Amino acid sequence: MTTRNCEEVWAKCLKIIQDNLAKVAFNTWFAPIVPVDLKGSQLTIQVPSTYFYEYLEEHYLELMAMTLHRVIGPDANLEYRIVVSNDQNAGRTVTVAMPSNHVPKSMPNVSTLPRKGADEPLNPFAIPGLKKIQIDPHLNPEYTFENYVEGECNRLARAAGFAVAGNPAGTSFNPLFIYGGSGLGKTHLANAIGLEVKKNFPDKVVLYVDANKFLTQYMQATRDNNRNDFINFYQMIDVLILDDVQYFADKQGTQEVFFQIFNYLHQHQKQLILTSDKAPVDLNGMEERLLSRFKWGLAADLQEPDFETRIRILKRKTYKDGIEIKEEILEYIASHVTNNVRELEGTLISLLAQATLNKKEITLELAKGMIDKLVKNTQREISIDYIQKVVCNYFSMSVDVLSSKTRKREIVQARQIAMYFAKNMTKCSLAMIGNAIGNKDHATVLHACKTVNNLIETDKAFKQDLDEIEKRLKM
Ligand code: ADP
Ligand code: MG
Repeated sequence: MTTRNCEEVWAKCLKIIQDNLAKVAFNTWFAPIVPVDLKGSQLTIQVPSTYFYEYLEEHYLELMAMTLHRVIGPDANLEYRIVVSNDQNAGRTVTVAMPSNHVPKSMPNVSTLPRKGADEPLNPFAIPGLKKIQIDPHLNPEYTFENYVEGECNRLARAAGFAVAGNPAGTSFNPLFIYGGSGLGKTHLANAIGLEVKKNFPDKVVLYVDANKFLTQYMQATRDNNRNDFINFYQMIDVLILDDVQYFADKQGTQEVFFQIFNYLHQHQKQLILTSDKAPVDLNGMEERLLSRFKWGLAADLQEPDFETRIRILKRKTYKDGIEIKEEILEYIASHVTNNVRELEGTLISLLAQATLNKKEITLELAKGMIDKLVKNTQREISIDYIQKVVCNYFSMSVDVLSSKTRKREIVQARQIAMYFAKNMTKCSLAMIGNAIGNKDHATVLHACKTVNNLIETDKAFKQDLDEIEKRLKM
């Protein structure tokens, strides 16, 4: 179509938009837009900055979709051309395609693909020649629903996950927020949902990403001035699985960008699945507006499996691997490894490895010996060094200061706390502890333990600090 046509169409759009907006908003956000092209039902407009585009997306998406629908028709599609003129990218043109809300679902939505020749959105997973359908979902094929043993501990989360997989973004579980302690099956369940979606809807773009990976990718994108491409990539996803979102704590920039992606996806009826080691209310270091989003859907927790479930998990695993282990051995394992599915599996794997390597039968004796050793091993891990590290980390000081001569109260106290934990959690003598922590004698250690015990009794805040440190030591 001709340029005149494109301007005419845009003028019609502006009329509608003007009717629906306050004057100031219209002048600020719509007057500066330049219509540049109209091809079929695709209108391209030019906006002055990335920020401008993002603002439009966040605030006027619905209005624009409605307007284009009315003026151009149901297939209307909008493209932004961002002319960034005030930074090192001067003159660089980024073309961002925006699918209209009203594009029929059955139509292959080719226009959401990056255009050939235009600057393609950076795929942080670095798959060359990115096409929408080619995004590798990064799912672990072993982590299926079939392999996920159901129990009281996971019934709600599992059922919600299954419902989501059958109807992504079509249930009220959006986002689905799965939380629970380490090794309880969050990653497995989140993957299972992704795999099930792929089974039910092969065309849906599913992506599993660990929050840490997301963080790194975002940092890199910012460094390389690709922030916009990064966002653009994530906006193509139909089902986004973000694992271990607690890693976003205190990472403001990342929270902000994720907030933007979250809003975009949610507005476009895309499914979000988040996992975390804590419930939304207990997540520290998160922006309130992000937390409030997390509470929009369903938060479902995973708890420690009960004995029956532990047995069934072990059986499932042995069955899958084609091995037979006597019931009493499984029961022994299940009754000694109680609060973590990962450790439960780990124990079974070590047992199998031992039996195979030593060409021994898997007997109850072997299992007992091994579990004893495993338990001892985890005890041995708490060393004086480790205690010093955790304590200093907690008080944000370097380990070196513990051995300095200073009489500063905080440092003296941190040293006393380290001594106290060393006395209670290791088998070391008082002399050894004193020697390792600040080169003191056994009387100093004894005095430290007394002081700490007194404070625990009398100072509530102090006790809280200690409880938290103890928790970290045992993690
Ligand atoms: P998290 O992400 O919560 O730390 P994972 O999902 O990594 O835990 O689970 C740890 C291990 O335990 C994985 O190998 C997983 O397959 C297994 N697992 C956890 N829950 C179950 C379950 N209900 N049924 C079978 N295997 C499970
Ligand atoms: Mg995990």
